[in-house]
Amino acid sequence: MTRSQSTIHGPILELRKLTRTFGALTAVNAIDLDIAEGEFFTIVGPSGSGKTTMLRMLAGMEQATSGDILLRGKRINDVPANRRPTCMVFQSLALFPHRTVGQNIEFPMKIRGVDPAKRKERALQLMRQLRLPENYYGKNVTKCSGGERQRVALARALAYDPEILFFDEPLSAIDYKLRKTLERELKDIHRETGKTFVYITHSLEEAMVMSDRIGVMQAGRLIQVGTPNQIYSTPTNRFVSEFIGDVNVIPVHIGPNGKLISDDFAAEFSVPKIPVGFTGGHLVVRPEFVRFLGSGDASENRLTGRVYNEYALGSRIQYQVRVGEAVFIVEKLRQQAYTGGLDDEVAIGWSGADSILVSD
Ligand code: ATP
Repeated sequence: MTRSQSTIHGPILELRKLTRTFGALTAVNAIDLDIAEGEFFTIVGPSGSGKTTMLRMLAGMEQATSGDILLRGKRINDVPANRRPTCMVFQSLALFPHRTVGQNIEFPMKIRGVDPAKRKERALQLMRQLRLPENYYGKNVTKCSGGERQRVALARALAYDPEILFFDEPLSAIDYKLRKTLERELKDIHRETGKTFVYITHSLEEAMVMSDRIGVMQAGRLIQVGTPNQIYSTPTNRFVSEFIGDVNVIPVHIGPNGKLISDDFAAEFSVPKIPVGFTGGHLVVRPEFVRFLGSGDASENRLTGRVYNEYALGSRIQYQVRVGEAVFIVEKLRQQAYTGGLDDEVAIGWSGADSILVSD
């Protein structure tokens, strides 16, 4: 049984034609989406695509112009934020400065009148769950590191005992190395708590690491929803394919012989199946699927060029192969590195099955 099968149940949130306009601008455009209970769902998209507006509507901080938000089947459009069983963790974390870790975590319980001994017990339990040392209870939050503050904010959010936690780019201001650690930690915490997490970020890479499913937004529309693997291997359009990692995107059209033709590479390419009605678009090839071909190697798709440059990426090496005026990117594991010289002529190839054909 996969983890998703074991923890994800029916929808906790249903969005029906959810729309928000600001004057003439449609920030969120008729979004239909189900988010399952216990799911880690990430909404990803470039700046201005409508992520924050959508999250704010789900949290009750923004009114929908039209459409419905259902929580366990009940319409909650008119339920105010503080009456929803949800909690938001902001990028700024919104912690109370000059207060202790304990005071910050206990705040939601304090406003609900929970007695001090019970509050402390619960705060210490949350601190253990989030791997904050017990002696931090009396520590001033301003003396905590970025990662620790992140955990305090999360502990405070969990102290509300929400059914759904919303995250508004909580890691975007944190440096790369710590961010990578916190991404994994957040995923672990999601697993430990079993809560529904709805997260927004402009980084598909970040979304990939943590999420059960990802929804990609572009100009107010939700253009693709899928598992990280589906988004990576079968992007619905060029925009999604280019959103993560480097990628070869080749404009192609159908030639008179019914084959895919690239004018840029002066070549014909083959894919397992050209969809009915396809007249032209882009052929997308991930750099790691491209091989350097030996003299006797056959390949469904083949180009000849020169290795113009190479870039060490740690465990992998990326090559820029110039084919005429065009550039192709090839990526290999270090142990499969290209051994020829720069500017040598090379043949590169990939199988049709590793190509993705998109119409825009
Ligand atoms: P970012 O990653 O930069 O936060 P985003 O994807 O979260 O972007 P939103 O903040 O939801 O995008 O904004 C979507 C669009 O709606 C933008 O064009 C933005 O300028 C506009 N917008 C958002 N809030 C308002 C508002 N209160 N009044 C007018 N326009 C708004």
